[in-house]
Amino acid sequence: MPQIAILAIGDELLNGDQTDTNTAEIARILSRNAFAISSSLTVGDHELAIITALQRLAADFQIVLVTGGLGPTDDDRTTRAAARAFNRPLTLNERALEQIRQRFRDWKRSMHPANEKQAMLPHRSTPLCNRLGTAPGFHLHAEETDLYFLPGVPAEMRAMLDEEVLPKICQRFPDPLPKVQRVLTVFGLPEPEIEDRILSKGLAAGVELAFAVDLPTIEVKLRASGPEAGSLVDRAELLARQALGDYVVGSGEETLAGNTARLLRLTGKTLALAESCTGGLIAKLLTDQPGASEFLDRSLVTYSNTAKTALLGIPAELIEHHGAVSAICARAMATEVRQRAGTDLGLAVTGIAGPDGGTEEKPVGTVFIALSSASNVRLERFNFPGNRCQIRLRTACTALDWLRRSAFEQEAESKELSV
Ligand code: ATP
Ligand code: MG
Repeated sequence: MPQIAILAIGDELLNGDQTDTNTAEIARILSRNAFAISSSLTVGDHELAIITALQRLAADFQIVLVTGGLGPTDDDRTTRAAARAFNRPLTLNERALEQIRQRFRDWKRSMHPANEKQAMLPHRSTPLCNRLGTAPGFHLHAEETDLYFLPGVPAEMRAMLDEEVLPKICQRFPDPLPKVQRVLTVFGLPEPEIEDRILSKGLAAGVELAFAVDLPTIEVKLRASGPEAGSLVDRAELLARQALGDYVVGSGEETLAGNTARLLRLTGKTLALAESCTGGLIAKLLTDQPGASEFLDRSLVTYSNTAKTALLGIPAELIEHHGAVSAICARAMATEVRQRAGTDLGLAVTGIAGPDGGTEEKPVGTVFIALSSASNVRLERFNFPGNRCQIRLRTACTALDWLRRSAFEQEAESKELSV
């Protein structure tokens, strides 16, 4: 296995303005392709710091992946630093220049002379195509090390990694030790209980169990390496799914919202939403999914009492008497929005996300969720922990989970009927 390091460049990564997602993304993509990162380093936009880091990493690793600082502005110093680090003069690379010109032709924009700077590459380096931006990346072989220089913009970095870099690494290091990982997303069970359930099924030797907590969901990772990795992980996934049952809300890249949308589409049920404390978040998560128009008719953000009355016909007296955050109001919102939209399902949420507005009887975190169908209404009061953002997210995820389960149950019913 090659020793691989990542170098992320940018002041914004060191002063907290920008989270370094590129390092995480590169590590994720490489590990999916059975390579492992041995080390990663971040430096600011200082030429000397970049030179030192490049020389040190080139001495210790076989592959170094560098991101950031390839742009045309003066704070982009990576290319110059690379040239100095390995004693290569900067020369105009005709292929890189043509690439940049082509990009501007594609965009039908005239090219600023500063962009020509991006075609000045260290001598004997190979440009890497940037399909999405102007900065060409480049590959440089120095001191037995392959250095790949990628743009900082995450989408450009990712495209170049997939299309240009990964194929070259795979070509130089074919057949790395197979490593397989499966990810299950779980909602509604705490981490220790997930672990207990899985371990009680017995995890085969050689399978590693790991957790990534991204509340309110938890990712369960099952990993194995070696020639048997595929079958070991297949079996472990089967047992984990048995242990966790319908608390598994997604697998692989599929999220809770993606899973919910897929199941709603599958059952052909239509949905209308009436959101108060989530302010449209449930609709946002569902419409992030392509094809949401197949099941989602509308989402009304009825935030004020007036809106609940004007748009949903909730009697003002009901709100005055019981409060907008009440079981009876949630039930009325869900039923009204379903009937007005003429959909199969109507879902409503109303609650107190805080930090103000809580009372002894209804503290911050009190949320009512109601799901109305032609045959019944499911209604529940919650007391969610956390701050405003966490309460809203938990509310939205719980609502999605209800929708997912209702689609799921309907699917099971229809399967029974068709048997
Ligand atoms: P540009 O042509 O835009 O100047 P560049 O290759 O010079 O591209 P940078 O200037 O370093 O890249 O960064 C461009 C954008 O990408 C900035 O918004 C920056 O915050 C972001 N970015 C840079 N490095 C990272 C990183 N490691 N993770 C996430 N975002 C990053
Ligand atoms: Mg830049």
